Amino acid sequence: MERGLLVIISGPSGVGKGTIRKYFEKDERLKLTYSTSMTTRSPRNGEVDGKEYFFVTKQRFEEAIANGELLEYAQFVGNYYGTPLAEVERLRNEGRNVLLEIEVQGAKQVAEKCEDAITIFIIPPTMEELEKRIRGRSTEPEEIIQQRLAKATSELKLVSQYKYIVCNDDPQLAAELIQTIILRNMELDENK
Ligand code: 5GP
Repeated sequence: MERGLLVIISGPSGVGKGTIRKYFEKDERLKLTYSTSMTTRSPRNGEVDGKEYFFVTKQRFEEAIANGELLEYAQFVGNYYGTPLAEVERLRNEGRNVLLEIEVQGAKQVAEKCEDAITIFIIPPTMEELEKRIRGRSTEPEEIIQQRLAKATSELKLVSQYKYIVCNDDPQLAAELIQTIILRNMELDENK
């Protein structure tokens, strides 16, 4: 069986990665499975353990790092975030394409380990719009919001490390572009 592709969607916090995903994740042509990350941050209202994230303690996360359980991990605004490796491998070996929605340090680690990863960077239409989105959804204190904004400015400078760049002016259009990118890469992979 053909091994599945690894698709990485990255970009600053608040750029709309999750919103875009909702438009294409049910498209069965893409054979996509979303990889649920592990994090030490607290759940936001409505977030469910095992769905949005596996919410774990710092101790459990550091154990996962020490045991080599993570494909990549990063610290982001005071918390750890990482991708459990075993599940990614299992899915890819079953022929599923695996989708990682991660920040830029983690994306860099994966791109270095898996040269054929499909890396997609989502940019906001403007910084003002990004700030509006971060403030709009956040339940976090001003200090954390400021840290997320500062982080976004530095993350946007890393855009050239990605194979594809998609602007999220309209999430449906951004999703359609991503669908096209994945479908074309599946075609190229089949003809290899
Ligand atoms: P949030 O706290 O807003 O859910 O996530 C903060 C940032 O961490 C976002 O940019 C999100 O994409 C990223 N992130 C989520 N899961 C992972 C992961 O497993 N690894 C890395 N490196 N970043 C992640």
